[in-house]
Amino acid sequence: MNNKYELIYEGKAKKVFSHDDVDKVLIEFKDDATAFNALKKAKFEGKGKLNCLISASIFKLLKKNNIPTHFLELKKEHIMIAKRIKVIPLEIVLRNTAYGSLCKQTTIKSGTILVKPLIDIYLKNDELNDPLITKDRIELMNILSTKDLDLIIDLTLKINVILKSFFKNIQLQLVDFKLEFGYDSKNKILLGDEISPDNCRLWDLNQKNDTIVSLDKDRFRNDLGGLIEAYSEINRRINDFI
Ligand code: C5P
Repeated sequence: MNNKYELIYEGKAKKVFSHDDVDKVLIEFKDDATAFNALKKAKFEGKGKLNCLISASIFKLLKKNNIPTHFLELKKEHIMIAKRIKVIPLEIVLRNTAYGSLCKQTTIKSGTILVKPLIDIYLKNDELNDPLITKDRIELMNILSTKDLDLIIDLTLKINVILKSFFKNIQLQLVDFKLEFGYDSKNKILLGDEISPDNCRLWDLNQKNDTIVSLDKDRFRNDLGGLIEAYSEINRRINDFI
């Protein structure tokens, strides 16, 4: 990145830089992959670019469907310009199919299609290992008002309807995903972060039998190999469709 831009924040998969316009930031997507709160780390050349391109396509789709997001435009294939937001320290996970931590923490069988989407909210805090949190604890910590929390949950459910149908059109099952939100300078709630195979579970529907073929970060989490091939396939299907 051009050194006239100041590094504001560096996360596990992205760097955020200042922009000439104080209401904007530049987000650079890194090739780093982490899992299990960064206990597992690796680098995949081209991952940053793929996640940035996939996220940009999804944010554009959401914008067309009247979902407010921080995305403004792509600057380069691995850098996007976004509205500056104050990130709300919550991770909103929506699950359509039972998998991952839900099956480790409950008796629900892996692969069960949930009768209605399940929303699990986690506190975004690496030191505490992002614990599952309740509405009452959120209120107790004064993270945000009940009204804003309800608004975020409602937006997440709407996003799920849009994404589930979009991914189905490109032969992908949207198993679950994680969203983050923030406030812009006018205190409006916007969807932030990214929407990519790093934070969505996507299963290939082009399978003859019931085998699960993950085209997402589970390829890295579970040592399945072929991460870049999977992310490229998702990007290709999105581009062929839109
Ligand atoms: O691990 P778990 O099964 O709870 O993950 C649910 C969904 O949230 C998955 O799509 C996963 O990729 C995403 N997630 C994430 N960042 C986290 C935790 C989960 O993107 N810190």
